[in-house]
Amino acid sequence: MSDFLARLAAIVGPQHLLTNDIDTAPYTLDWRRRYQGVPLAVARPGSTAKVSEVVKLCRAHKVAIVPQGGNTSTCGAATPDGSGRQLVLALRRLNAIRHVDTDNNALTVEAGVTLLEAQQAAEAAGRLFPLSLASQGTCQIGGNLSTNAGGVAVLRYGTMRELTLGLEAVLPDGRVLNQLQGLRKDTTGLDLKQLFIGAEGQLGLITAATLKLYPLPSAHATAMVGVDDIETAIDWLNRLRHRFGDRLTAFEVMDASCQQVLRRHHPSLMPFSAPWLILIELSDGGDPAPLNDALVEWLSVQTMADGVVSQNETERRKLWTLREEISESQRKDGPSIKHDIAVPTSALPRLVRDCAADLDQAFPGVRIVAFGHAGDGNLHYNVSYTRPGNADLFDDEDAVNAIVYDHVYRLGGTLAAEHGVGQLKKDWLARYKDPLALELMRTIKAALDPDGLMNPGKWL
Ligand SMILES: Cc1cc2nc3c(=O)[nH]c(=O)nc-3n(C[C@H](O)[C@H](O)[C@H](O)COP(=O)(O)OP(=O)(O)OC[C@H]3O[C@@H](n4cnc5c(N)ncnc54)[C@H](O)[C@@H]3O)c2cc1C
Repeated sequence: MSDFLARLAAIVGPQHLLTNDIDTAPYTLDWRRRYQGVPLAVARPGSTAKVSEVVKLCRAHKVAIVPQGGNTSTCGAATPDGSGRQLVLALRRLNAIRHVDTDNNALTVEAGVTLLEAQQAAEAAGRLFPLSLASQGTCQIGGNLSTNAGGVAVLRYGTMRELTLGLEAVLPDGRVLNQLQGLRKDTTGLDLKQLFIGAEGQLGLITAATLKLYPLPSAHATAMVGVDDIETAIDWLNRLRHRFGDRLTAFEVMDASCQQVLRRHHPSLMPFSAPWLILIELSDGGDPAPLNDALVEWLSVQTMADGVVSQNETERRKLWTLREEISESQRKDGPSIKHDIAVPTSALPRLVRDCAADLDQAFPGVRIVAFGHAGDGNLHYNVSYTRPGNADLFDDEDAVNAIVYDHVYRLGGTLAAEHGVGQLKKDWLARYKDPLALELMRTIKAALDPDGLMNPGKWL
């Protein structure tokens, strides 16, 4: 191994090869602090050519690679195992904004650019890159692509899959696939970029991407309203869509327990209280006033428990801060059994009711914290308490998961809507995913990565 490390240092530069425990520590623990790995080393290459050289070297020495972006995965997708034999490949030094192409509404960035930096590059050119997540200051474009990230504007703009025009990727044998053309139409065979999106680094390393840009909206109308139940929330979603079409950009919900968590950690920000809160945002070009008036007018004839429409950008930011602080507040609040589930939006009310009833029967007094992108049928459905005297909540994780996922799949849903599978959900995926779909994925994996060196131990 010392020959391998010496050659690796020669490729990336000695200062970019980390081998001692203190230097590697930030790369070995996942965001939720559930998965702690022991890496062989952490390498930080500075260009696509260097990534390619590192991959070729790893292949020659049969060293497994764990790609890592911002390490904000909530399912242990970017952390190495405990063997001390996996190399973490951190992509942050690939941080160039290669091209802002306003003529074609396209942005080409390297994989280590943070989501926030990509958004800022677009905005400086008078455009919008619409992917938006609470982790955007830290997560990177390569990680966003590899998890097919979603966030709060999927309702209007889609996930990373829909937002990507082209990719550059280093294959498991070290060759570089360049598909950065940025064409909006191309029917010359398979769309290979889609193979790498959502692959959690198991088919190769993404080194750059060409992303779609949109006109920068000049008008926003944002409201936080309380309703009595999830049925009403979904009814509102349908009627808002009908009234405002694709100007409806975000539709987020939070249940009462989620509001309590926020109240504990942000008492001054959290004046609302209702069985369910909905955060609604419309956006458009032109003058903001008519859009705001239209939302106020629509809301004025609805029945609601509580509500406010933001009157300026500061008030709008406050409403969004509340939404963005949920994950961090929950982390401070203690452990929870997390689910990132999605069903057709029409099935959300049934999921919420039936799941809660069955969980409560199995664990009387169970505490569920539910929030998320209801406009996409996606809920973060977290269980933070199961029974008295249970020293370790995770003792009940399998029983809780079985109840939740049985309901999700009965309703035609998925157990990983946007956070990916990683280490956390891989056994559950094997249980619920269509066996033929899994077999096809394994065939593709074996064809591209016959030695199984790309992020082993994760979803495939
Ligand atoms: C507070 C908070 C809020 C969040 N909100 C959302 C949300 O609303 N929507 C959402 O979708 N997610 C959300 N997430 C989850 C997370 O931020 C996303 O999954 C994000 O896309 C991960 O990006 P990352 O750069 O941190 O990737 P990492 O965690 O570093 O890696 C994720 C996966 O991608 C692989 N990978 C990383 N870079 C590359 C690359 N260049 N090439 C190949 N493989 C690579 C890794 O091996 C791993 O499998 C949230 C997380 C937090 C902490």
